[in-house]
Amino acid sequence: MFRRTRSSLSSGHSTRSTRPVRTALVAIAAAVTTAATALTVTPSVAATSSTAGVWASCPNGYVGLTYDDGPNPSSTSALLNALNQGGAKATFFIWGAHAQQYPSLLQQEASAGMWIGNHTWDHPHMTQQSTQTMTNEISQTQNIIQQTIGQRPVLFRPPYGETNSTLKSIEQQQGIQAEVIWSHDSQDWNGASTQQIVQTASTMTNGSIILMHDGGYQTTIQAVPQILSGLASRGLCPGKIVPGQNLQPVVTAP
Ligand SMILES: [Zn+2]
Repeated sequence: MFRRTRSSLSSGHSTRSTRPVRTALVAIAAAVTTAATALTVTPSVAATSSTAGVWASCPNGYVGLTYDDGPNPSSTSALLNALNQGGAKATFFIWGAHAQQYPSLLQQEASAGMWIGNHTWDHPHMTQQSTQTMTNEISQTQNIIQQTIGQRPVLFRPPYGETNSTLKSIEQQQGIQAEVIWSHDSQDWNGASTQQIVQTASTMTNGSIILMHDGGYQTTIQAVPQILSGLASRGLCPGKIVPGQNLQPVVTAP
């Protein structure tokens, strides 16, 4: 069930000039020339994979796909497979405790090119905690992620979207540069069906960020292909969430 698959998403492709075609038509009387040209006019289409070209054009902008609460042995690998097959990247907001428990899954996320954010150590209601607990929740998660994948997150998502000025100050002390809430809640955590998740995603526009979960929900996994095809049909692409001004996130080209 947890096949370790690595999708190679090579973007390198060779382009071949088609200019010889016209020349060949002019000189078509010469049988020798025609035979030689036949080799050069054959279009090279092999480099265009079925998914690589889908996200080449994003006329209507970028949205952030986010998956919280993992890594999770019941869903992380399947989510990565679905995203890889669609040529898409997403941001995973990680529990420190789960990173400690399932380090290889976190490493798979990073290897797949996914972006990793901090989602506290064990998901308390942060605004109800002491300053010391808030600090520990964030700093210990920063440390375990760095130990596991060699990068220290700059994105933080507070559990339940609950925040205040004290928490924001602590985030900044811990190297966080953006606090990422969401504009769209898929409700996958609340029993939403695959079609309901897809429907919520279909209302995203440029800059939207959707909350989903790496929480063992098959509905969330099964929604990925339809979410991606829906975005593509509306000229939107999965984007990268990066820090903007005043801890605000911005969704940009990957
Ligand atoms: Zn969460």
